Amino acid sequence: MAEILVLVDHADGAVRKPALELLTLARRIGTPSAVVLGAGEAAASVAATAAEYGAATVYVADGAEFSERLVVPKVDALTQIAKEKEVAAVLVTSSGEGKEIAARVALRLGSGLLTDAVELEAGDEGPVATQSVFAASYQVKSRVSRGVPVITVKPNSAAPEAAPAAGTVEDVAVAFTGNAAKVVSRTARVSTGRPELTESAIVVSGGRGVGAAEGFGVVEKLADSLGAAVGASRAAVDAGWYPHANQVGQTGKQVSPQLYVAAGISGAIQHRAGMQTSKTIVAVNKDPEAPIFDLVDYGVVGDLFEVLPQLTEEIGAR
Ligand SMILES: Cc1cc2nc3c(=O)[nH]c(=O)nc-3n(C[C@H](O)[C@H](O)[C@H](O)COP(=O)(O)OP(=O)(O)OC[C@H]3O[C@@H](n4cnc5c(N)ncnc54)[C@H](O)[C@@H]3O)c2cc1C
Repeated sequence: MAEILVLVDHADGAVRKPALELLTLARRIGTPSAVVLGAGEAAASVAATAAEYGAATVYVADGAEFSERLVVPKVDALTQIAKEKEVAAVLVTSSGEGKEIAARVALRLGSGLLTDAVELEAGDEGPVATQSVFAASYQVKSRVSRGVPVITVKPNSAAPEAAPAAGTVEDVAVAFTGNAAKVVSRTARVSTGRPELTESAIVVSGGRGVGAAEGFGVVEKLADSLGAAVGASRAAVDAGWYPHANQVGQTGKQVSPQLYVAAGISGAIQHRAGMQTSKTIVAVNKDPEAPIFDLVDYGVVGDLFEVLPQLTEEIGAR
């Protein structure tokens, strides 16, 4: 079967969930091989997790370059392995960093790039990716017509499924090209304890309807009862009620969770562009004519300050 290279994202020694989703999807189009870069002493446990999710081979490369330099060392490693092993496709998570890595790898391989896939299937002439475009108004199927396809896949596009495989570890000595931006300092982001917005299976977002920064309290309480991430509309972010890092939409983050709850959000096209591929959408809005109700699976017409606390209480009771 065709060898599919999967870049495995990891943090603090743990494999990130989108990487497990990639390994699951890779099995639909060939035999996954994991690429584990800069994991240091955690490499063995990261490799073991990749094997549990179907990696027949795990390519491991280490070196200070991976933490000291941005993006390029990972591009060097992926390109080298893709060339040496003559792989059939390269899969990377659709994050900011992931898309930059993927674009550079595709350029170096002289092949094509597909970004933000939400589904992958095997085709006669190579893997076929489904993308959701024009604010999720259309689904298109695309295939790279020349060279090794490099595809980035949105988090939450598949449920991770374990499928234990050999996970044979191969150490790789990467020939680094240098010339990458150097990291000069690091400041840890203050953790909210909530899941990462783009990776979370559930997102609860608040809009101008929350009325003030303090209004986000009811949104956060509902999110915490569900183990969800908190999102915000641009109107709420522009008003200074919630950080820009949490903005969902065309000029914010793209999310595609299993469940998206929009509270006090009207449903402008630019907001929809960031969340319309969510599997189940719930809206709470006091205006029955709000456009958000055109795309919801469940809609509640009501005041979010009455509805959200009741929902939080009910979830807690269960
Ligand atoms: C180039 C460009 C890029 C943009 N990018 C983004 C983007 O990335 N993300 C984004 O979100 N927007 C973006 N926008 C802005 C977008 O057009 C909308 O202005 C914005 O999404 C509106 O936010 P909102 O729904 O929170 O506010 P509003 O449109 O004002 O809607 C507030 C809603 O809350 C309801 N409401 C009020 N009080 C309550 C209550 N107590 N209980 C329940 N419901 C209540 C109202 O009925 C209303 O429907 C962009 C715009 C432009 C031009």
